[in-house]
Amino acid sequence: YPNQKFTSSPKQKNKKIDKQREMSQIRFDNRVVIVTGAGNGLGREYALYFAAKGAKVVVNDLGVTHSGEGTKTNPAQKVVDEIKAAGGVAVANTDSVEFGDKIVKTAIDAFGKVDVIINNAGILRDITFQKMTDLDWNLIMKVHVNGTYSVTRAAWDIMRQQGYGRIINTGSGSGIYGSFGQANYSTAKLGIHGLTLTLAKEGEKRNIRVNTIAPIAASRMTETVLPKEALANLDPKHIVPLVGYLAHESCEETGSLFEIAAGFIAKLRWQRAAGALFDLPYTAEEVRDRWNTICDFEKNPEYPTATSDTFAKVNENVERIQLKK
Ligand code: NAD
Repeated sequence: YPNQKFTSSPKQKNKKIDKQREMSQIRFDNRVVIVTGAGNGLGREYALYFAAKGAKVVVNDLGVTHSGEGTKTNPAQKVVDEIKAAGGVAVANTDSVEFGDKIVKTAIDAFGKVDVIINNAGILRDITFQKMTDLDWNLIMKVHVNGTYSVTRAAWDIMRQQGYGRIINTGSGSGIYGSFGQANYSTAKLGIHGLTLTLAKEGEKRNIRVNTIAPIAASRMTETVLPKEALANLDPKHIVPLVGYLAHESCEETGSLFEIAAGFIAKLRWQRAAGALFDLPYTAEEVRDRWNTICDFEKNPEYPTATSDTFAKVNENVERIQLKK
């Protein structure tokens, strides 16, 4: 029947479109997702989302106040109960993120693997640097930096071996821009993005993608800091779609940093001025005299992504000097 055209009826067409939509839906069937700090706020929303989309979820939460003091609650189990009541699959873990091996063991024992990690657990110890104690500093490093390290390290070999992993780390505007009274927290949050940058490079060949989000959302962390009118627009649910996409197998993004709040999402990157090249040796006075050039982002700025981009400039200057000789 070489000339016969097989056209589908409108009904068939709709069915086809429905099928295509279904296939292109972001789902996590057969995926195992660990969400840390998932008893409250953002983490709870992530856990509910992944479970609703078919994932098997490890709901980790130590159950502490927003400044890290112990409570008698077990918010992780509460979220697991919620997930199960809705027909989802989840298991609770109540270890601190400092003991990532225990959290990953919960995933392995219950579900046999780990595909996605959402490093989300966090606390605050806000105080001006002048009044900051070693305890304020160390607690923040322990939970944010060591916690993110520990959970990721425990799952890293598993992800490498299976040739698949999606990791979303949680940074903060405080880490990107600095924030009065948060020297400890901003150090930790930008440090976490440093981990993202390197793990994105180390995980690239094994299909492990690692990104950082810097969210703003209404939660225990922000309820006493932000005005009520602002909080009304900052439902933590509005952060979930970005995390859902970054955690999916179809997303190849890696080593990136995103700001996200109330339906606004944007990627950030480094921008470098074209800068100045000096003959060697050179003086502080010469630096002063060319300060505007050093800081000029208007003329031919660059967007470096690796230290090799810096060495390109070093080589350019060395060659320039040699040519002059
Ligand atoms: P939240 O206080 O509502 O939730 C944090 C959860 O982490 C809590 O349930 C807490 O019990 C848990 N937790 C704390 N220490 C833990 C530990 N050692 N081990 C396991 N669980 C622990 O706060 P949130 O606003 O949902 O914050 C989630 C993440 O987002 C944090 O990393 C936070 O720093 C970051 N963040 C939040 C905002 C915001 O506007 N809410 C802004 C920037 C960054």
